[in-house]
Amino acid sequence: MKKMSLKSKITVFSAIAALISIIFCSVLAYAIGTAYAGSIVKNELKAEVRKAEKVVEDRIKSGSTVDGIKYEGPHNGIIYVFLPDGTLVFSSEGGPVPSLPDFDSKDFASFKADNENFYVYDKKASKNDTVLHVRGVVKANDPVLTNKYIIIGAVCLIPLEVLLVAFFVWLISKICLSRLNKLNESASSIIGDKDLKKRIPDKGYTDEIADLTSTINNMLSRLESSFDNEKRFISDASHELRTPTSVILAQSEMIRAATPTAEEYAQANEIVYNQATKMKRLITELLEISRAEQDQSKKEFETLDVSELTETVVSESRQQNSANIELSSNVEPKLIADVNKILYIRMLGNLIDNAFKYGKDNGHIKVSAYTGQALDLSNTVIITVEDDGIGISKENLPKIWDRFYRADQSRTGDKGSGLGLSMVKWIVNYHGGTIKVESEENVGTKFTIELPCKHARN
Ligand code: ADP
Repeated sequence: MKKMSLKSKITVFSAIAALISIIFCSVLAYAIGTAYAGSIVKNELKAEVRKAEKVVEDRIKSGSTVDGIKYEGPHNGIIYVFLPDGTLVFSSEGGPVPSLPDFDSKDFASFKADNENFYVYDKKASKNDTVLHVRGVVKANDPVLTNKYIIIGAVCLIPLEVLLVAFFVWLISKICLSRLNKLNESASSIIGDKDLKKRIPDKGYTDEIADLTSTINNMLSRLESSFDNEKRFISDASHELRTPTSVILAQSEMIRAATPTAEEYAQANEIVYNQATKMKRLITELLEISRAEQDQSKKEFETLDVSELTETVVSESRQQNSANIELSSNVEPKLIADVNKILYIRMLGNLIDNAFKYGKDNGHIKVSAYTGQALDLSNTVIITVEDDGIGISKENLPKIWDRFYRADQSRTGDKGSGLGLSMVKWIVNYHGGTIKVESEENVGTKFTIELPCKHARN
């Protein structure tokens, strides 16, 4: 049962419920129909015997014989007239007289002959001290009458049948859906306790409710990790902002407390300016990340010439970066893909900026873009940014995607906020692509991005 879907369970149980109801009502209709038909046969027998009793009494009174009496009911009964000693005086039908039970004028009797049940009803007819025993015998079962009342009974029982099926289906739904109520209670209690570490237990079922349980549990996991990220993000952000704020405060206090020389003043001003610039950059990047994550629900893509876009970003980066580093590109023409233009520019721009930031004097940066092929053989666009800069050590390499992470600041200097690569990774994920990095200290770094490309053509 645990492996059955809820739909199948309800279907099977409902079919069983309908079958039980039909069998129950059919048996009931049969019992009622048979009993009712039997009571009609008995009543007719009683009426016929009473009629015969009157005729016999009249004949005794008039002194004539009791011949010619008929069973006039529709059930082929026979009327017998006996003397009190049991001698048969008259039979409304010829043929042998079956062995009958003892005479009893009070109630119905029954007997079986040739595998058939018979009813017997007796009456004493007496006049002028003469007593005769009148007896009616009839077949207990009249198939036509019985079938008629079974059918009537079955029709009358249809509402009961419907009620029974409805009751069973209600019961089945209640049992099946009780797990849904428990699920609701568990989810409400988790939300009420605000304990996102808790999970709703799944008890090995594989039906729709189990799917819902796993969806809610996945949602809770994602909520938990998103809250954890948020907490970490806030604490990292406050930590990152505290340092420049403290430096600015210290410089301001120094200027306020003493009378600084023009040189000290200029120095303090330079420090305050640098720290304020750093804070501005940090706040801008935080805002961009937060905005981008908020807009994630409505992903927007345009079918663009990625080759042209890449060349544009490369040439803008060349103009913006004054470092003595040569930036070259090798871009396959007419690479068409569905991308978000603004995010693509930010992604590539960040990687090229990093290559400049962590490049060496007289170094080289090479940006390439070409067609690739995914595992499912669909076309992809591969973009690489390669430099011959300071490189990243093996132990730092896995951490560069973390927010606020800056590898080995003694080598890299205080050049960034540590948010650029986490943003790049987020943009790649937004496009459903992949990113990887290869790097060797003092040799260089190469980032390779692969984006799905539904409309790629060469
Ligand atoms: P940042 O603002 O510090 O550059 P990123 O998230 O862009 O932040 O990069 C994280 C860290 O990864 C950098 O601090 C730097 O140590 C390292 N890194 C990134 N790109 C390169 C590169 N091209 N060469 C060497 N190191 C790099």
